[in-house]
Amino acid sequence: MIRGNGHAEEKMRGAGLRVTPQRRAVWSAFGDGEGGHLAADEVFARARRSLPELSRATVYNTLAAFVEAGMLQAVESRGAVLYDPNADPDHHHFRCRGCGRLYDVPVEGVEGLRIPDDDEFVVDSKSVLLRGLCPLCSPAERSGV
Ligand SMILES: [Zn+2]
Ligand SMILES: [Zn+2]
Repeated sequence: MIRGNGHAEEKMRGAGLRVTPQRRAVWSAFGDGEGGHLAADEVFARARRSLPELSRATVYNTLAAFVEAGMLQAVESRGAVLYDPNADPDHHHFRCRGCGRLYDVPVEGVEGLRIPDDDEFVVDSKSVLLRGLCPLCSPAERSGV
């Protein structure tokens, strides 16, 4: 999913964040067309390309601020936190056991998911994690490589 970087400043202002070169650089790590689901270290490596003096601590603080502001969603994957510019809490993921990539996928039937016979849990959102092999990895497996 490709998300343009053009509305970064608008998003930050809308979220009540001051627009700084550091924040712009961190946000740009998500806007180069490869999309989301980046670990903090990947964000750090990418953001440094546009702002070499950026520190790791600043990147971590900025990611936390973006999550707080609803610009990013923190998604857990294999014990690591990945940052996702698709901040919709009801979107779903597919994790490939071959390459480890996390994809945004549409899932049917989620509306019907519920905790049976229980009124004590109040569900705010539903996000599903599917696991398996992605299209890039499954042909290799079929041919036995
Ligand atoms: Zn894969
Ligand atoms: Zn996602």
